[in-house]
Amino acid sequence: MSENLCGVCQKMAAQWTCQECKVALCEQCVKEVRIESTRPGQRMMGRVTSPMKSGVKKIKVCDKCFREKEFLG
Ligand SMILES: [Zn+2]
Ligand SMILES: [Zn+2]
Repeated sequence: MSENLCGVCQKMAAQWTCQECKVALCEQCVKEVRIESTRPGQRMMGRVTSPMKSGVKKIKVCDKCFREKEFLG
């Protein structure tokens, strides 16, 4: 009984956790969203914090948070 069920479909074993709302996710419910961290205005004291051009990071989220991220763009 140590199996951790997905918090979305309640059927499959959870393999990931939503990094936004911390819900358990199975392989069918997990979504991967790319976040670009290189936005205009993301500067600290006039200096760009990240010298890397590819400021895209991927996070695993649930469907609900995925849609919110998509909406926010
Ligand atoms: Zn699921
Ligand atoms: Zn979520």
